[in-house]
Amino acid sequence: MYYKKTFLLIVAVALLSMTACNKPADQQSKQSETTVSDTVKTETSVKPTANNNEQILAKKQIPILCYHRIKNGTKGDYTISETTFGEHVQVLADSGYHSISPDQLYDYLVYNKSLPDKPFMITFDDSREEHYTIAGPVLEKHGFHGVFFIMTITYNKKNYMTTEQIAAMAKAGHTIGLHSWDHTMAIKYKDSVDWKKEVTDPQEKLSGITGQPVDYWAYPNGVTNREASAELSKHFKLSFILSTKRDSIYPLQTVRRIIVPDISGQTLLRSMRKSF
Ligand SMILES: [Zn+2]
Repeated sequence: MYYKKTFLLIVAVALLSMTACNKPADQQSKQSETTVSDTVKTETSVKPTANNNEQILAKKQIPILCYHRIKNGTKGDYTISETTFGEHVQVLADSGYHSISPDQLYDYLVYNKSLPDKPFMITFDDSREEHYTIAGPVLEKHGFHGVFFIMTITYNKKNYMTTEQIAAMAKAGHTIGLHSWDHTMAIKYKDSVDWKKEVTDPQEKLSGITGQPVDYWAYPNGVTNREASAELSKHFKLSFILSTKRDSIYPLQTVRRIIVPDISGQTLLRSMRKSF
């Protein structure tokens, strides 16, 4: 009996040490519900205990902005002018906001790590060329870093970032995340072939381009359901929706963002306070 117990403990320690570093917290918090893991965690003290879902949901949400096209002469929910974009970043900087990375957000939500004053996150979807030519330099001028979600079918296509530009963004300190291969919504992936084509293959290739892990996902069209979020939790630390409701079981896979239309800087600040 003693032998059996010891053996089980060794297996538990081995399993935990293999998985603790890269397992999404949804699964970590499930593990921590068992007493064996709690004991092991105390003994090895690799990491503080991860928050459970209830604790994650109770934390104050951080404002997260979502941009798409930046182009003069056209307006709409998905396009803002270069002038307005510059004004937004200027107003955020003047108001004392600090941009945070998804790594910082994850550590805040899961391990209660502290964040700078007035934290916000700024994200860009669809791998547009102007994310490199306009957004990156404007952000860097103010000491901000952004998060750029790439749909990988656009590599080196006209009006989209080249793989060299994506690599340069990562090198400049921005975070590169995945936005699927061809923008098919996650709720439509039927089988392992689809998941491989839209998620795991592009994730691996993108990581090869940036030389960094790709730990974050933005849902095409912001759309998910519990089944899709469950599958994505196996591949990403955080996944981002739009302004819809978070999932009580997968809060880390349903992090909210607001789409920023062509509004004034002051309206943006009001909208950030209201929405998060
Ligand atoms: Zn998109």
